[in-house]
Amino acid sequence: MITRSKYQPAEIESRWISRWAQDDIYAAPDESPLPKYYNLAMLPYPSGDLHIGHWYNYTGADIYGRYQRMRGHNVMQPIGFDAFGLPAENAAIKRNIQPRTWTLDNIANMRRQLARMGAGWDWSREIVSCLPDYYKWTQWLFLQFYKHGQAYRTKAPANWCPTCNTTLANEQVINGVCERCGTPVERREIDQWLLRITDYADQLLNFDGLDWPEKTRLMQTNWIGRSEGAELRFTAHLADGETVEIPVFTTRPDTIYGVTFFVLAPEHPLVERLTAPERRDAVQAYIEQTRHETEIERLSTDTSKKKTGVPLGATITNPISGEEVPVWIADYVLMGYGTGAVMGVPAHDQRDFEFARAFGLPIREVIRAGSARSASPGETMSDERSGNPETDTATWEAATTVKGAGEMVNSGPFTGTPGTEAIRRVIAWAEAHGVGKATVTYRLRDWLISRQRFWGAPIPIVYCPEHGAVPVPEDQLPVVLPDEVEFKPTGESPLRYVPAFFNTTCPICGEPATREVDTMDTFICSSWYFLRYADPQNATAAFSPEQMARWLPVDMYIGGAEHATMHLLYARYFVKVLRDIGLLAFDEPFTRLYHQGIVLGPDGVKMSKSRGNVIAPDDVVGRYGADAVRSYLMFMGPFDQGGPWNNQGIEGVWRFMNRVWALASDYTDARADTGRPLAAENDLTGATIPAGDAVERLRHKIIARVGDDYAGLRFNTALAALMEFVNGLNKARDETPGVLTDPRFGDAIQSLLVLLAPIAPFITEELWHALGHDDSVHIQAWPAYDPAMTVDEIITVVVQVNGKVRDKLEVAPDIAAGEVRSLALASPRVQAALAGRDVKKFIYVEARHLANIVG
Ligand SMILES: [Zn+2]
Ligand SMILES: [Zn+2]
Repeated sequence: MITRSKYQPAEIESRWISRWAQDDIYAAPDESPLPKYYNLAMLPYPSGDLHIGHWYNYTGADIYGRYQRMRGHNVMQPIGFDAFGLPAENAAIKRNIQPRTWTLDNIANMRRQLARMGAGWDWSREIVSCLPDYYKWTQWLFLQFYKHGQAYRTKAPANWCPTCNTTLANEQVINGVCERCGTPVERREIDQWLLRITDYADQLLNFDGLDWPEKTRLMQTNWIGRSEGAELRFTAHLADGETVEIPVFTTRPDTIYGVTFFVLAPEHPLVERLTAPERRDAVQAYIEQTRHETEIERLSTDTSKKKTGVPLGATITNPISGEEVPVWIADYVLMGYGTGAVMGVPAHDQRDFEFARAFGLPIREVIRAGSARSASPGETMSDERSGNPETDTATWEAATTVKGAGEMVNSGPFTGTPGTEAIRRVIAWAEAHGVGKATVTYRLRDWLISRQRFWGAPIPIVYCPEHGAVPVPEDQLPVVLPDEVEFKPTGESPLRYVPAFFNTTCPICGEPATREVDTMDTFICSSWYFLRYADPQNATAAFSPEQMARWLPVDMYIGGAEHATMHLLYARYFVKVLRDIGLLAFDEPFTRLYHQGIVLGPDGVKMSKSRGNVIAPDDVVGRYGADAVRSYLMFMGPFDQGGPWNNQGIEGVWRFMNRVWALASDYTDARADTGRPLAAENDLTGATIPAGDAVERLRHKIIARVGDDYAGLRFNTALAALMEFVNGLNKARDETPGVLTDPRFGDAIQSLLVLLAPIAPFITEELWHALGHDDSVHIQAWPAYDPAMTVDEIITVVVQVNGKVRDKLEVAPDIAAGEVRSLALASPRVQAALAGRDVKKFIYVEARHLANIVG
């Protein structure tokens, strides 16, 4: 007897990593007769270590890519690094290492870790966004946006993190604090570059033809926040006797008669002129107080936060009711949203309600939910109740926000208008009287891309005293980041203090000028990287039309759901702009999107250093090998859900790897004993044994199941099917002497290796070669199966006599009804039950495996 060799993943895996690199089996050729498949995983930030979340994302993406390759596609599966950003700069400040050095060292380590995973990356397409051959094109794209009016500079209020010393996009402020460092964010007015993503708001709401998770589409839709409503113009009387119109945007023009006060943002330009002299001090103090609040705090819907505000001592005229109401300023109204003014309708808006309660302002009900009584002619609800609608609301605990239902009450000539008509009628009235119009507004803001930091792509703009902001000529790109800079917490980019960078000449007049010292938001770099992968070495263009036509759009994009309203929205915007500029011929970057779940710590909580529940991939890979780690990650639960890490779980998967190893080794050894060549099973004839039939049926069944599961990214159930397969083959080996040399057993072993290869690429490659193959298991075609063979070999037919179960028959699934009848009637139990009576009726219900005898 031959002693099995021991499964030693460390040795096997390091050998195959070098071999695959040599043979270049994962390179996607541009020229191929096969249909393309662009399989993309979100590129990592080079923090220095691949964490378990990367392993999870990339393993699933890799399995899917390998499956598509076996299905006959020319699969492109690239990887690169999103290499600009704050952590490099913070490391530089803390440890006195240049960001470039820190980043490139980390990339070197992560390349090793990414190879260690055994994923089928096409390294020839790698991009590193902090290298000049990449960011040259990021800058070039910025200039195209600028040329086409999509990039502009303006003084804008910015979210400012005093710790990071930079502005942040709204998306990077979470509950009023900096996403990166947790410091409360302040607001500042500075010159900034923005991209006009709002031009594309309506297009970005269209997801036609995209196979994206419903939740992500909804998040983007809400983020864009399109709302239909009306602009109504109120008239204010200034202290100097002048009158001005102040527009408000409202989605509820039907509540216009419920306006009992008017609120301006503290920053509103008319505040000073509207303020009565005796209110000046209080107003000034309030403005000062709110200057330190962040936009997010101010928009907070947290009801425990008490509303604040002060009256200006002025009134304003409701354009429809003609009523005069007091004007206030309050921090819950923001200048950057809508018009910086709000009509206060406390009965039907919760924030207005809280404000009115805080300051004792009247609350007047003007929309009442439907009631049969309101149909009575000649009476209104308020008359019937108390005659004073404002006292009726005294007991209210919240605003009522019923919309498009019920009817208008206390609304002058509109009283009695059904809720379904209310908005339309009020807008029609306002338009007819020249005091308002129907409008559409969006929550989406333009994308602020200036960062007062060093480690980003420099914005290619020069400031000339004579010519203002002048774009750097394209033939002078890239604007190169200098190598050595000093980091001082000045609040300005360190580039401001590098004279060789800062001082330049104007491209128009040649006179002394200075460079823009801000760098671009790194989300710009990641908004087009998937285009560059298709044409990574292009030295004369960001990408060529031919390569775009060949590879784009991305067929499958796998990455975290946390990118829903940033990266995934920005990338869509980029593609639409580039399409309109004529650089791309498609509308959407990612045809199919999939979000993997999250791997939690063994305690069921999100992994974090502070909790000490972090699983380091390098440690577990060192112990069990990459194949077991990949398999375990995929086995822990559905791929879109993830789950907690479990040390017993990985032990179980480790045992499975060893069973696969032992089974294939037993087979190889048995076949070696026969002296026949191992790899050429199909040529073998020779005696076969009945157990081989069962093995063959199991093989077809498992091929069908695993193929379905891979296609649906159900890697956990695919693995469960493969475990069943191994158990079935082990059973045949243990119970049927000689089955190991049955050619059908050999087919089963080969299929097992091919099916398992996407999940566990190393062990399957090793065993595949041990069978005598010279080519890689990873370039094999997906095995075919015969649907007829996936049917159970034997079914159990229940036989009833006069409604009572009397016997069970084990038969072939395709048995004819007549044969079931003869078998049933031959059964001694059925004969006993019939007790000599004639059979009046025989029915065989094939679908239910049921035979009924009436006797
Ligand atoms: Zn910060
Ligand atoms: Zn000039």
